[in-house]
Amino acid sequence: MILAIESSCDESALALFDPKRGIIIERISSQIELHSEYGGVVPDLASREHLNNFPLLLKELELEKYADQFSHVAVTNGPGLAGCLAMGGILAKSIAFVYGLPIITINHLRGHAWSPFISLHENDPKGFKSKLEAQLPHLGLIVSGGNTVLFEIDTSLSIHILAETVDDAAGEALDKGGKLLGLAYPAGPRIEILAREGDSSYTEFPKAMGNRKDKRFSFSGLKTSLRYKLDKMKQSDIDGNLSSICAAYQEAVFHQLIKKTGQFIIEGNYKSFGLSGGVANNLNLKNKFNKLSSSHGIPFYSALPKHSGDNAGMIAFAGFIDLEYSLETQQNDFVNIEPSLSLIDR
Ligand code: ADP
Ligand code: MG
Repeated sequence: MILAIESSCDESALALFDPKRGIIIERISSQIELHSEYGGVVPDLASREHLNNFPLLLKELELEKYADQFSHVAVTNGPGLAGCLAMGGILAKSIAFVYGLPIITINHLRGHAWSPFISLHENDPKGFKSKLEAQLPHLGLIVSGGNTVLFEIDTSLSIHILAETVDDAAGEALDKGGKLLGLAYPAGPRIEILAREGDSSYTEFPKAMGNRKDKRFSFSGLKTSLRYKLDKMKQSDIDGNLSSICAAYQEAVFHQLIKKTGQFIIEGNYKSFGLSGGVANNLNLKNKFNKLSSSHGIPFYSALPKHSGDNAGMIAFAGFIDLEYSLETQQNDFVNIEPSLSLIDR
């Protein structure tokens, strides 16, 4: 059984994964409320909260019940906030020491990359490997607060990045746009709710990234364009049309995601498409990708809501994949913290 730890940003999370059954138990403690006061994550506060929260989560997990079944400790080693990653690293080392276990380090983005397949395993642990292999090569999109990465998992299970954002991430674009509109952090889910009542044709935003060969996303222009629009509007007009402004802005962010992904689906020979990261919670986006995938005749896998934002279930699952396919050299120690590494290819 793999005991997994995630602490890269503002969520402290633990999970236990049994290769024969899937995720047995997972717990998460979010700091969103604490940081929303500041309009974004405050690194030092985040590290302090991990220190407070992990002991409470550990108690809930009742580790002693499973102690004789543990095989590995999996822990996120980056990318993330250095102080936060170190908290998870210390916990991993302590648990590994107490139970005499090896540690496997997991890149946070690899956790997101594999998360759409957690259910495929859980529904049929025995048949998982052959079912997974039938889904390869796989095209995946991670859309989170810190990253927007389009990647493929090839038939030998290696991950290759195809396109990344050159400035803001999709979630960041939603959060920053929402901030301009006076919405609390994180604004992504608030924009989704408001947008449901709005008319996305209310205003137009510039459509970036039209070129097929352009292997990148860019969202910072959208935010600037929103700022200029709002500067020209009266506050009463903004308030009266808030849901339509949200709908139009969200549509512009999603248009770019869909368009770029569509180009790669057409050019590649993918057997499946997967969506993950916090923005994958958005039902509008999920519906759009569902349609895109089915129009190209490939199955769509979306991470479950509980595995979309930061969580330890996905870290355990990525650890399971690494062990199952001998992908990573196992490390007996937490050797590297990689706070600024944002690559998932090796
Ligand atoms: P990171 O770890 O990179 O900060 P997460 O995977 O935790 O990102 O996701 C957080 C991001 O997801 C935030 O930018 C948030 O606004 C966005 N998000 C969460 N739920 C939704 C939603 N329903 N619609 C749009 N964006 C969302
Ligand atoms: Mg994340």
